[in-house]
Amino acid sequence: MAAIHDALGLAPVINASGTMTVIGASRVVPEAVAAVASVLPEFVDIADLQRKASAVIAAATGAEAGFVTSSSASAMTLGVAAAMTGADPAAIERLPDTGGLRDEVVVPAGHLVNFGAPVGQMIRLSGAMVVSAGTAFDVQPFHVAAALSERTAAGLFVVSHHVVPTGQPDLPTFVALCRAKGVPVIVDMASEYDLTGAIAAGADLVIWSAHKFLGGPTAGIVAGRKDLVRAAYLQSRGIGRAMKVGKEGIVGAIAALEAWGRRDHAAARARETAIVAAWLAALADAPGLTLRRQPDWTGNPIDRVEIGVGEAAGLFAWELADRLAARTPSIRVRADLVETGIVHLDPCNLDAAEAELVATAIRAEIEAARAQGDGRRLSHAEYRTAGLAAALAWPD
Ligand SMILES: *Cc1c(COP(=O)(O)O)cnc(C)c1O
Repeated sequence: MAAIHDALGLAPVINASGTMTVIGASRVVPEAVAAVASVLPEFVDIADLQRKASAVIAAATGAEAGFVTSSSASAMTLGVAAAMTGADPAAIERLPDTGGLRDEVVVPAGHLVNFGAPVGQMIRLSGAMVVSAGTAFDVQPFHVAAALSERTAAGLFVVSHHVVPTGQPDLPTFVALCRAKGVPVIVDMASEYDLTGAIAAGADLVIWSAHKFLGGPTAGIVAGRKDLVRAAYLQSRGIGRAMKVGKEGIVGAIAALEAWGRRDHAAARARETAIVAAWLAALADAPGLTLRRQPDWTGNPIDRVEIGVGEAAGLFAWELADRLAARTPSIRVRADLVETGIVHLDPCNLDAAEAELVATAIRAEIEAARAQGDGRRLSHAEYRTAGLAAALAWPD
């Protein structure tokens, strides 16, 4: 257990869920830790620092410019604000009053998801209005074309496992439709490893989280067309002030991005592949489990273990996730598909010893449920209700 857990009396957490911001996102890489520590006691001109960030982000992404925000969520708000105000200082100070500005944002309906908060709300925070194109599982080019108008400030496109997996336009199609109407495209790909593809596909502004795969401190990275990046940066004179990133977030994001460029990605992949193989072997004969190596949904170079939790396991998938989380250390698995009887194990944020503890704990919980017969009691609806009630009772 780390000293900080001891000092604050916090339960240690083993992360088999990937990069989840509710448990601290990722293990920050040493280069970013050092950069954050070195800037904290110093003064630095923030505009100069963001100028350096712009150059580093441009080099990493192929974009004209970039800057660092407090998060991807705030970057969505600031990107939309930029598309409405441009570099007009009076309009920037007037938001969220959008009088006289183009203030609609077109989003494919299947992209209006919840990543922890609703995508549409991040748009509306700027004062803009959301125009949903198509329906959840059916967004065709004619839907997008019909949603675009002379009121449209931007199109927003999300790349994520949260997005409805079928029936959505691809990015080149969405870009072409928006371009035809002179509308800039903002892409939220907070959790996607690809740093160049969306810019190359013609996106005007692209957003990533520094604290996810990059292993940086909590921050957002924005890259794109220089005038739009400038307008987004200038929102710090307006609504962006409420979403401020500090010097530590900016230097940490720069360091993480540079470290990512130097990282031995093949070695990291091999390490993760070995953990996945060890999980598949360790759980192969556990009662009731169906195991599968599953490549990432959106094409990131990572495989996970998909665990189907069947009747013989003696408990439902959501009960398994709950009971693992309640252990000490608390083991967090990927539970977004538990309703379908599946949990996932993600190898990107733990070491081999922790991975072994995860497999041992899963076997122990199944054994206990089978021996005690206390599983398969809580319905999924009850599980959801209980989870919400616990969240709403904070700080109790
Ligand atoms: C994580 C995530 C976000 C939020 O990112 P933050 O940087 O934590 O605000 C937004 N969109 C998608 C698709 C995400 O995966």
